[in-house]
Amino acid sequence: MKSLFSSELSKISFLSFIGILVGYQLGNIWLGLSIALGIYLISHLYYYRRLDEWLAKGGLVDKPFTNLFWSTIMDQVLRLLNQLRRDKVQLKSDLDYFQESFQAVQSGVVVVDTRGAIDWCNLASTHLLGIDLERDKRQPFHNIVRSPEVLTYLEARDFDKPLCIVSPCSLDLHLELQATTFRQNYTLIFARNITDVFKLETMRRDFAANISHELRTPLTVINGYLETLRDHSDDLPDMWLRAISQMLDQSHRMDSMVEDLIWLSRLEALPVQEDDLELVDLEGILNSVVNDALVLAVDKSIQIDIAMDQFNALDVSLTKPLQITGCYLELRSAFGNLVQNAVKYTPQNGQIQVQCFPRHDKLVVRVVDNGDGIDSLHIPRLTERFYRADASRTSSTGGTGLGLAIVKHILARHEAELDIKSEVGVGSQFSCLFPLEQLYRS
Ligand code: ADP
Repeated sequence: MKSLFSSELSKISFLSFIGILVGYQLGNIWLGLSIALGIYLISHLYYYRRLDEWLAKGGLVDKPFTNLFWSTIMDQVLRLLNQLRRDKVQLKSDLDYFQESFQAVQSGVVVVDTRGAIDWCNLASTHLLGIDLERDKRQPFHNIVRSPEVLTYLEARDFDKPLCIVSPCSLDLHLELQATTFRQNYTLIFARNITDVFKLETMRRDFAANISHELRTPLTVINGYLETLRDHSDDLPDMWLRAISQMLDQSHRMDSMVEDLIWLSRLEALPVQEDDLELVDLEGILNSVVNDALVLAVDKSIQIDIAMDQFNALDVSLTKPLQITGCYLELRSAFGNLVQNAVKYTPQNGQIQVQCFPRHDKLVVRVVDNGDGIDSLHIPRLTERFYRADASRTSSTGGTGLGLAIVKHILARHEAELDIKSEVGVGSQFSCLFPLEQLYRS
């Protein structure tokens, strides 16, 4: 380009020189110079027009005849145009590749634009979500998949967890929607068919609920006879007495297990009902669970305190009882399980503290003990049904292995989480983290 520039400069100088020479001959240098530069300018305008016409045809016809300067420019433009065309073909092929791979996916894939309208979807979305791309392109997604939960899910833009819905195409089709954002507010929605998992889960739930109900009656009969036998066992030999007492212990344990299973099935069966929600007096409920646990704690000389503090920084009236919105029975069961576990797994003369305080955007209800503690290896699995950190220890405490599973379920129903920290030989901390908005401010 630089040599082109210098050759063009030489051309102007040469033309100007000729112009000046001719002007000198004619007796007017300026006239000669102007005519020379005018010729130069007109020739460029002419070539520029040819370039313009050639570009209007997309540079697809043969290059028009021009001088070296314009021909070089045209070559460079042509090179750029060809590069652009190649990039476009590559881009189209990449796009086709991605669209074809999404078409091959068995889950529904939908791209929703910044206004919430459908931009693209794969074939699976037709039978899973009832979207017909030709018909529904540019339609709001929630107009096709009509459900208040979907609308709330997409509007909240909190896509950490998936959303389970019934397909708009069939009531027998259960879907898990998982959205994710890309390219400033575009949303990619995956719809996975989870009908089989849903059916299996329902079967498991029904089985657990039915079996526990069925076991209840025979167990009551067995318990009743064993208690009668124990009450009339004066003449029986010691060996029989021990056997009856052991049978009673085990049947009571089975009884608690069945009760816990029934409670867990009930929690799983229905989401928390509006009617069950009430304002629960925090101090009252904690006092009540501590009083229940004291029966066991007194035998082991364990001290239990309640500490409710740091609330004065909040916008709540401390002259009235602190209340949270929740289901009294469920919260009592959750806090009760934690306090009773603390008593079960804390040795003689131990100390337990039930703390309640606000921290950041959470209301924390924490049960702290200085008992046996739990190896960090077990902590992630503690809320699984029947999981025990130490099976031998648990059989002696008469635990059912369902307590923490119940706590986790109840907390999830209250939009709360369970946080467990523990160290072997030092003690454990079980914290229920409620959203602070659940604290009633009067
Ligand atoms: P369990 O009826 O066996 O107590 P949970 O579900 O309530 O069942 O607890 C599960 C396991 O977690 C227990 O078996 C025990 O090993 C451990 N665990 C629970 N709470 C404590 C605690 N406060 N200290 C030590 N271990 C605990």
